[in-house]
Formats: sequence, structure tokens, C-alpha cells
Amino acid sequence: YKPVNEEGSSVVFVNRSVTLENIKCYGFDMDYTLAAYKSPDYEDLGFELLRDRLVSIGYPHELLRYNYDPTFPTRGLVFDTMYGNLLKVDSNGNILLCSHGFTFLKRDKIHDYYPNNFIQRGNTDRFYILNTLFNLSETYLYGCLVELFTRCSRYVNCQKGFKHGDLFMSFRSMFQDVRDAMDFVHDTGILKESTLKNLDKYVIRDPNLPVLLTRIKEVAKVFLATNSDYNYTEAIMKYLLETPPGAKVSLGKQWRAFFDLVVVDTRKPLFFAEGTVLRQVDTNTGKLRIGTYTGDLQHGTVYSGGSSDIVCDLLDVKGKDILYVGDHIFGDILKSKKRQGWKTFLVVPELAKELQVWTEKTRKYKHGQLPLHDLSDPNTDLSYTIHRHHMVVTYRMDLSYGQMGSLLRSGSRQTLFASQLMRYADLYSSTCINLLHYPFSYLFRAQSVLVSFSSDMPVIITGTCIYSFIKYLAEMTMKKHGFPPLMLSRCPMSPRWIITPLTSPHRSSPLWIMSRR
Ligand SMILES: [Mg+2]
Repeated sequence: YKPVNEEGSSVVFVNRSVTLENIKCYGFDMDYTLAAYKSPDYEDLGFELLRDRLVSIGYPHELLRYNYDPTFPTRGLVFDTMYGNLLKVDSNGNILLCSHGFTFLKRDKIHDYYPNNFIQRGNTDRFYILNTLFNLSETYLYGCLVELFTRCSRYVNCQKGFKHGDLFMSFRSMFQDVRDAMDFVHDTGILKESTLKNLDKYVIRDPNLPVLLTRIKEVAKVFLATNSDYNYTEAIMKYLLETPPGAKVSLGKQWRAFFDLVVVDTRKPLFFAEGTVLRQVDTNTGKLRIGTYTGDLQHGTVYSGGSSDIVCDLLDVKGKDILYVGDHIFGDILKSKKRQGWKTFLVVPELAKELQVWTEKTRKYKHGQLPLHDLSDPNTDLSYTIHRHHMVVTYRMDLSYGQMGSLLRSGSRQTLFASQLMRYADLYSSTCINLLHYPFSYLFRAQSVLVSFSSDMPVIITGTCIYSFIKYLAEMTMKKHGFPPLMLSRCPMSPRWIITPLTSPHRSSPLWIMSRR
């Protein structure tokens, strides 16, 4: 096994412990999980198809001037269908960032729209979460549309949309048109068709994927559960597993032989609930056999529909013995965990860049850039200086990720996406291939944390603390809140930070203590 670079993108991060030895079955999603799409080329393609569709149903031709800009959107933003704003929020709905078109709104302007700097996330009729990687091009399109109509002299800006003569176009109707265009692009198969025409441009073919699947199959059962149809799945999986990069000839092993069970058209998240009728796919024609499948599991047979319960039955495994690997936080991870108790592994392709920026920039910003000359002035308001400094560092950090900042945080505050990731994914990594770095007897222990527990600014005590003082602090917090404060300490053998409840402080002094509010 290759040594894992502690800070690199090859790490599998752990929210809850998983003993790989106990995993009897591995399940995989296909799109963005086994089949990683090339960014930004694939989003670019998605954007163009959406944009052209909108123009074909009557949107102004000026829209064609916009090209996809990968530096603008971050996944997990919320679109406010009432005011047309894109919002970055934390798990409670507090607004971290807000843009109208491509204009980022200042605090007082945000306050005009949202008096408490807060949205009721539960109002899913009004607030739409753009959580998937397929949503990235859609997110950018909302920016383009609002920008275009705001700047276009033919349209009058109103609070809830735009006026053109006696026509009123609400942000709501614009949102609906984009959603319909999304369905059009996916359901008619034009996105799939364009992808298949140019596989080398859009799909990452990693020679380690067949290696990973072969190794897993030696120790456990493997299944594929994808929402894609059979013909697309067949083309993509053939490309990924049957022809190694560089070679024009196939290896002779059929892609289906890598799996014990292949299920297409799964309709996740419905698949994790009541599911749909299970049918057999005729792999020669790609057509479905009529009638419901009732037999035993036959190797190499492809099924359509079904449910997670049927998969467990066919493979003779229990939910707790399954590790399911997917990229969709709601459709793959949340539902499989909440409804079926599966162990979950979330693929977050952005992590590669997030970790790179994080490592580079924290090194740069870590060491006291507090303006010391300010501090020596007795008239300085110390807390204001620190607060301002914190804001500047946060802002600069965020910009290094992109215009909308990091997927996981805004300064020390966690995004909604990060909080969902921590809640529902037992493991997460930038790609499923990273499982190759760990033996299949590995115990993933929940201790190394990428995103911090505290959503608020932590109270930080730096330097060497006295043992009795820490003990006193721990007792006081216990008394007041009923739980101990969290201790952030650094293991001497590893560059990782470890967060543990401060129940029995060691004499080796902790560096920081964080308050958990
Ligand atoms: Mg997927």
C-alpha cells in the first residue's frame, strides 16, 4: 500500500469509525463516483446545453454570450426563488454570503432582503439547495440570468423579478424554466449523448479503478446501483473497465464480471424506500424483459429498478454490513444511512483542491499577521482589531477557493454542506480510488477531522496552559452545560489535530481549548 500523505488528497477522512474487516458488501454509484467527470469540461458542456435550451424556448439571445466560469459557483449554494439571490448558508440557515447575479451584496443590502441575516431552510418551496455536482452549471446559469436581466435596458428591475412592457417575469418562473431545462437535458439524453461522443474529453479513466474493484471482490461482494439507464451505463463502464488508458484493445474481461450485481434505473432516493419493480435487462438489446424478476441471483445479469431491500435479499447481506460509496449527499448518502443503516462513503471531488488551498494558505496565514503596531497603541480596541484581522484573513482565504469560497467553510464557520457531510457520511474522500491506500482489514477510526466541530468562533487559549487551570475549566463547563469542553491537541507523532472531550486533561499541556456553544 502506498504511504498516505497526511495532508494530501489521498486521505480517507473519518466521521464515524468503520471496520473494513466487517464490511461484507461494497456498493457503488456510477455517475461522479466510479465515473469521475472532468472538471470544468463536463460542467461546461452541461451549461451550454442548458443555456441553449433556454434560448430555444424564448430567452434573449444575449444569454449566448455567457460561457461557463468555474471560479464562480461552489456546490451547496441555495437559490432564493423569491428574490433571485444565490446564498451560501451554514447548517442553521445563517447567511455567509449572498450574490445577486454576479454582484456580491454587502451586509446592509443582505439585511434589506433578510432582516435577521437568516433563511428558513425548511421552506423548500422557496429555497432550493443546489447540492449535486450536476447542479454546478445550473448555479452558474442563475447568476447569468439575473445578471443579464438586471443589466439589460429593456427590462425594469423589480423586487421579485423583471418587467418588460406588460409582461412580468418573476424569479420564480425563471427558476421553473431552468429546472425544466435541467430535466430536458437529462431526460432527453442529450447530455449523455454528447458525453458518449467524446468520452476522453469528459470522463476520467483511472487505471487503478479495475485494480480497486478486483481487490474488493476478493474479500467482499460488490454491486453497482445507478440511476442511469442500461445503454449509458454499459458504454461508460466498458470505457472505464475494459480498455486500459492508452490501449485500443479490450482486456478480455467484461465489465459486468467486476460486480456480483448490477442495477440500473434505480431512481434513488426512491430506491432506498419502497423502490420500483425489479426487471431483468436483456443485455443484447438493452431492453427490459416484461414481468417481475423472481429468480435467484445469476452472475452477470443486469437488473433495472428494484430497491435496497431487494439488493440485500439478492446478495444475502444485511444493511449494517454494506459500505455504500456515492457522491450525492441526499440521494446516495443521507437516504441509505437514515432509512437502511448502511455505512456510507461520500465522494467529494472538490476535496482535492480544498485540501491543496487549505494546506498552502494556512501555512501562509498561520503565523501572527496581527498588525502589531496597532496593538502597541494604547487607544487600540483590541477585540475590534482581532475581529477585523479575522475578517480580512477569512475573506482572503475564501477567495483562494473561488468567488463563492470553500465548499466546507467560511472562515471558521461551517457550511450547510459540511454539516450534512459530517452527519451522514461515515467516511469521505476526494475519490473512491483512495480506498486502495488502506488494507481491507483497516479500522477507520473517528479522530482526524477536516472540518471542526464548533460552528462558532472558538474560544482559543494559546500557549502553555497550567494543568489545574484546565481541570477547573473542564469542571466549570461540565457544571454549566452538562458536557465537557472540547480539547484540540496535536499528537506528537502525527501532524493531525485531534479533538477530544476534555474529561481528563493530561499533564502534557493542550495548545487550544475550544468552547462548544
Ligand atoms: Mg452520482
